[in-house]
Formats: sequence, structure tokens, C-alpha cells
Amino acid sequence: MNTLTQKLVPSSAPWQQEILKHLNQVIRGFDHAPDKEKRKKIEKAISLIQYLIHPSPQWEILLSSLENIPLLTPKWRKIFKKKGIFTLEDLLYFLPTHYEDHRHFKYIKDIQPNQTVVVRGKIIVSGVLPVKQGRRKLYKVVISDGTGQLAGVWFNYQLKYMQAEFKPGREVTFSGLVRHYGWEKVIHHPDVSWDREIKLEIVPVYPEIDGIYPKQTRNLMQRIILKYVHFLGCPLPLSLRQRYKLSPLWEAVFHLHHPPANVSVRELNQDTSPYHRTLKFIDFFCLELGLAIKRKAYSQKQGISLKPSYLYIEPFLKSLPFILTNGQKRVFEEIKQNMASSRPMHRLLQGDVGSGKTILALLATLIAIESGYQVAIMAPTEILAEQHFENAQRLLKNLPIKLALLTSQLKSKEKQAIYEGILKGRYQLVIGTHALIQEGVEFQRLGLVIIDEQHRFGVAQRATLVAKGVTPDVLVMTATPIPRTLAMTLYGDLDISILDEMPPGRKPVETMHFWEKDREQVYRFLEEKLREGVQVYIVYPLIEESEILELKAATTMYETLKKRFSQYKLALLHGRMKAEEKQEIMTLFRTGSIDILVATTVIEVGVDVPQASVMVIEHAERFGLAQLHQLRGRVGRGTDQAYCLLLTPEKITSLAKQRLKAIIETNDGFKIAEADLRLRGPGEILGTKQAGFPELRFADMIKDIEILKQAREAAFHIIATDPELQSSEYKYLASYLRHYWGEKLKLGMVG
Ligand code: ADP
Ligand code: MG
Repeated sequence: MNTLTQKLVPSSAPWQQEILKHLNQVIRGFDHAPDKEKRKKIEKAISLIQYLIHPSPQWEILLSSLENIPLLTPKWRKIFKKKGIFTLEDLLYFLPTHYEDHRHFKYIKDIQPNQTVVVRGKIIVSGVLPVKQGRRKLYKVVISDGTGQLAGVWFNYQLKYMQAEFKPGREVTFSGLVRHYGWEKVIHHPDVSWDREIKLEIVPVYPEIDGIYPKQTRNLMQRIILKYVHFLGCPLPLSLRQRYKLSPLWEAVFHLHHPPANVSVRELNQDTSPYHRTLKFIDFFCLELGLAIKRKAYSQKQGISLKPSYLYIEPFLKSLPFILTNGQKRVFEEIKQNMASSRPMHRLLQGDVGSGKTILALLATLIAIESGYQVAIMAPTEILAEQHFENAQRLLKNLPIKLALLTSQLKSKEKQAIYEGILKGRYQLVIGTHALIQEGVEFQRLGLVIIDEQHRFGVAQRATLVAKGVTPDVLVMTATPIPRTLAMTLYGDLDISILDEMPPGRKPVETMHFWEKDREQVYRFLEEKLREGVQVYIVYPLIEESEILELKAATTMYETLKKRFSQYKLALLHGRMKAEEKQEIMTLFRTGSIDILVATTVIEVGVDVPQASVMVIEHAERFGLAQLHQLRGRVGRGTDQAYCLLLTPEKITSLAKQRLKAIIETNDGFKIAEADLRLRGPGEILGTKQAGFPELRFADMIKDIEILKQAREAAFHIIATDPELQSSEYKYLASYLRHYWGEKLKLGMVG
């Protein structure tokens, strides 16, 4: 029996050994027991073995508060709560930050400064030093291992004890941090062991805690782990653990606190040990399972089948002054097929700034309208909504299509009229801002929802708009592209179209950095360009907390610039202006009546004026990388060589420098997104919080992309074969999933 369980649990942890002991007791005397008792014994044995192989997660215990853990003193409870640790589960995941290798005695000659080592040697001299530290003299013990000498030094000691124990000639083991003082190697207050059989091991080092010796934390954590770790159970079924070579969760956590002697310390310290891999896999796996479930649920809904008749599409395509790029044709095909299916479309269109997503949005719009449905396009800002509206008006002017613009700026009377038109089905296309998701807005037959710059909206907002139709098709667009593999895995519940080809004739924008002291040089460059008839953007950062102050800066600067460029027409554009004012200025700029547009970041997204080919960005150090790229994307849309001049004060942070370097080096939005991911970390950029994803506790989307791919593959495979996780194999998996996703899994829409 022992060998059987040994086979089942090859690397048994102490608590498992404890169970093995039970098991042995249970089956002792089995041969001579009466039948009834035999059966009892067998049942008991089976349940113990099951537990050994796959303990179930015990949520009531895991989620109980620190007060229910008798091993913790009130002082420890306070310490942990300060660290954000509130439950037993949190505590089990209080992991060492690094590991020290104490598996071998170190030769004294090989010790590097500030290394933590274990050394065994013979005592050469021992005694009180004539040197005082404070009121006391030091006690020093020098040992030798034949390769060199090492001293242990004590500030606090009992003289009698020291003299009795540290007799020259005796063998002793010292361990601790070695400092070099000139040629002398010293450990202050070494850990001492006389026993030759000292346990050589990998020692976990926990985050430092004020007023607590590292050893105390270590000892406490060891006791906690031994007593409780198995309550974690494991969400992964055996088949999966075997396929991906993973340990059970409880075992992984156990070994992270208590590494077995044969594991690589380097891997432990780089977070790449098999145990780290298990934790990361589970992180991703739960995320991807949730996405797979949502996708499955969505794809099983009955949607509307929208098939183009080309009644409008054909004349529309003919009226365009250009032909579609191959990328646009491909994506149009993808959208068309998706919309024709009776399953609802749920598609993300990723394309760099200026790649021509708008045309695709309009083509999708026409498919829906040809089929007799209404379309809603939602944009994050008024300027953008207005621009989409103007664009659509211009491009669709020869078609019998009625469209409306809905923003919060409208007067209540106008609003009511539009509401009524939407409800009665008079408007086929409604373009707007958040105003679209107001309660009063009701559609007669909403068949397609398009959301531009999707990362600007929360899940709930998107869901609200979608709910105004009956499972309409959904197309979300983003100009913040992320690397393909990441997009595939991250947006596991969306189909993805990627527009990776720019319209022909685009030249990369030439980007340069100027210090504030060289401002005059920038102005001279502008003058030269203005003389050639080029239009110019000058952009100011507007940071919300100090909006008024910043606005003043933009306004003051505007006055200065008016004087400097007195022979040209300037205009100021900012978010606090009335909608009509903004619209008027944009129209004047588009038609060439304004030469210089001084603007805050209201122009960041989507504004499209091809003949404006020079942009100056003031305080470029204050912008994020994605924002800089978006801003720069406003130029380089025509045939002229475009320029982007970044102005900054002399003093900027190194992070800002790295951002500027990245933006100067490339025009490729995908590369910039990668740099951004590197510089900022994924959480913020991917908007995972906003998208309603559960938090990743150990895994990193970028560094651990290989594990992410495996976890995604496994998750989608499982949901394809057992969408409700009904197999008994997945019993604990389902319970983990509920734990991690909670309510979030219920939201039908993701983005
Ligand atoms: P974005 O992807 O940033 O939304 P837009 O849809 O605004 O890009 O397109 C940018 C510019 O490229 C627009 O002026 C648009 O008219 C133009 N454009 C789009 N598709 C093509 C094409 N196939 N050939 C030439 N120009 C195009
Ligand atoms: Mg756009």
C-alpha cells in the first residue's frame, strides 16, 4: 500500500505523509478483520487516497479571516492586514520573494561579499575582543575550513556560554550573511549548528517586515503551510496536469514555501520553476475559461442574419475617390460573412491610426440598412462623433439614407425629435456619444452596433447600447492595436479582424525632439512650412485635475502664437467650448480657412484633415505613448511628407525619454503598442480591469505569453467539449471559476 500511494503521490509533502500514516493505520490488520469492518476500512482508505491525489478546495476555510487562525498572534494579524492579507487564502499566497541556496557548504575562499552561505569549519580562536561596541565588548570566533578563515562576531552574548561552547578545535557550522572588511570575512550573529547532519536546504526569504527577524516569518509561514495548504485543493483535473506537466495547486504552493532539495534555485528566483508555472497557468486558465464560456454563450444566441443586396454598397464603393486596400477587402469579407450568419457578430477590428477603419464601419452600416435595420455608431468624444457624422453625410449623400447626430449638447426639444425619429424608424443611422445610451433612446429595429475606440468605453456602457436591440451584430473598433498573439488570447471571446495595411502613398511621419531652449528653431520650421501652404496643429496637454490651469496655459500660448504668426489665421480648440463652436472651427480648418489650430487633446482621436501635415506637441513628456501615437496619427494622412515636432523642457524623467525614443523610432502602431506594454505593463493598456476581467495574481500577459497560449488552448478545448463543465473531472474547476470570476461571468457582453 505504501508503494501504491508513493506512486500516486511521488513527491509527498509532510501533510501528505501524515495522511499516508493514517492510511497505514487504517489498513493495519486488514487480513484478520471481519468483513463489515473490511468494507469500512476500504471506504476510508479510498477517501484518504482520493484526498491525497486531489483534495477539494475548502472555501469556507480558505475565506475565513485571520482571527480564525490560532497560529497567528494579534501582532501577526495586524502585520498581515497591513499587507492586504485578510483571509487564509491570502496568507497561503504570501510567497517568498527569493530563495537562498543552502544546499552545500561553501568553501570560505569562494565566498563573495554579501553572500548568504553555510560554512563548516574548525574553531581556531575564540574570545572577547578588546574593542567596544557601545558599552559591550565583542565576542569573536574564527573558524577555518582549510581554504580560508571566517569570523563570527557577537554583540549580545552570555560570556560563560560562549566560552564553554566555542572551544578551539571543535567543529561548527555557521550560516548567515558574509560581509568583507578588508581581507576579513565576517558574519554578525551567525546561525550556529554543531551537528554535522545540519539540514541543507533551499531557504525561502519572505518580504521584509519591520521589527521581525526573517527567521520568525519563515518559521511562522512553515507552520501555516503545513497545517493549511491542502485546503487549497486544485482546480486542474489530472489529465490536464499530465498534459501540461503541472503540479496540483496545493502542492505548487507548498513547494514555493518549502522547495524540495532537487529544484533549481535559479528557476525559483526567476519565477520559472514548475511551481510558478502551475500558478501562472491556473491564473490564465481561469481567465480563458471565463472568456470561452462567454463566447460560447454569445455564439449560441439567435442573432439576425444580415445579407447585403448591394443596392447601396455598389454606388457607395463607386463614389469613393479611392479603391479599397487588400486589407480592407479582406476585413469587409470577414464582416460580411459574420453578419450574414444567424449567429450574432461579435467582432473586434484592430487597425492602426489612419488605416481606414471608417470605411469599413460604413460598409457594415450599409449591409444592415440594406436589410432594413437601423445602425448605431458610438464614439467616445463629441468631436469624433461629429466628424463621423460629417463623414457619413458626405459619403452617403447620394443615397436615400437618413442619419441623425445625437450628443448631449442638443437642446431638449431637438433631442425629443431625434428620439422620436429613432423610435419610428425614420433614421436608419444614428451617430452619437454616450448620449446614445440614455434611457429615452429606443430603436425600432436596431440591427448593428458599432463602437469606435472601444477602449474608451466600459463593458457596461457597451452592453447598454447592445441591449437596445435584440441581439444585434456588434463591431468594435480600436486604434490601440496590440500584438496579434496577445489579442487572440486576450480577447478570447471576440472574433478579430486586423487591418495591417495602410492606404497607399502614406509616408511615415518624420518625428523629432526639441528642447524648450530650441523653441525658436521649431517656429522657424513652422514658418517655412506655412509659407508652402501647409496647415499646422499645435497641441497642448490637458490634464484633468488641473484643467483650468492648463487651459490657461493653452490660451496664453495661443495669444503669444497669434503675435508670432501674425500673418496667419489661428484658432483655439478645447473641450470646454460649445459643440457648435468646435464644429465651426473644425470645418474652417478642414476647408483651409485656418492655418494653425492650437488645440488641447480633444483632437486626439479620429480627427481627419489630410492637408494638415505638421504637428507640434508641447510638453510631449506628459503624454503616454499610445496618446502620442494617436496625436501624431492626425498628420501624414495626405500625400505631403508629414512632420511631428515634440517639444519638452530640459528636465524630463527617464521613462519619458524612453517614450520619446520609441515614438521617434517607429511609426508602426503595433510596435509602439509593444513598447508601451513593456514600459507600462499590460494592466493599464489592455484595460483588463475595465473589461471586467478577474485579476491575474501571478501571471504576466507579456512575459508569460507561452503559458497563456497553452492555457487558452486547454480552456477552449474543454468548453468546446463540455461547455457546462459537467464531467466530475471538472468539479473543482467549476468551483474555482465561480471564485475567480464571481458576478463578472454573468455579464453577457465583453469588449
Ligand atoms: P482610422 O483607421 O484612423 O479611423 P480613417 O478611416 O479615418 O482611419 O482613414 C484615414 C484616411 O485614409 C481617411 O482620409 C480616408 O479617407 C483615407 N482612406 C481610407 N481608405 C483608403 C484607401 N483604401 N485608399 C486611400 N485612402 C483611404
Ligand atoms: Mg477612426
